[in-house]
Amino acid sequence: MLDKNTLDSLTAWLLARQTELFAEIGSRQNPVDAMTSADMGEVNDLEDQASKRERTTMQDAEVQRDSNELADVRAALGRLNDGSFGTCIDCGQPIDLQRLVAMPAAARCMICQTHFEARAIPPSLTTRP
Ligand SMILES: [Zn+2]
Repeated sequence: MLDKNTLDSLTAWLLARQTELFAEIGSRQNPVDAMTSADMGEVNDLEDQASKRERTTMQDAEVQRDSNELADVRAALGRLNDGSFGTCIDCGQPIDLQRLVAMPAAARCMICQTHFEARAIPPSLTTRP
């Protein structure tokens, strides 16, 4: 099981990661888009437009990935608070310590994670309005 030292270092890692993700998401959402759309009028080259759109999409994807990870990290911190940290949220079995050390935000044991990913709907289909 998890000893106090391990829990402390995992808590510290999760808190640091949370701060990092907040900063990353904040910096990516700076109004860069507003500045690029200001010169849209003089963009006639379709390739240029396409590459701009691609860049924006990639940025969105990164923000999306960071937001997802932030949600995982916050959920893990919540489980640390209520004492359920280190227990698989699906089957209730203890999560392998090596897995937790490698991925402190892991909510499921390896087996349940594999099942979960197999039936998960791709994010691109769920996040678009
Ligand atoms: Zn499980």
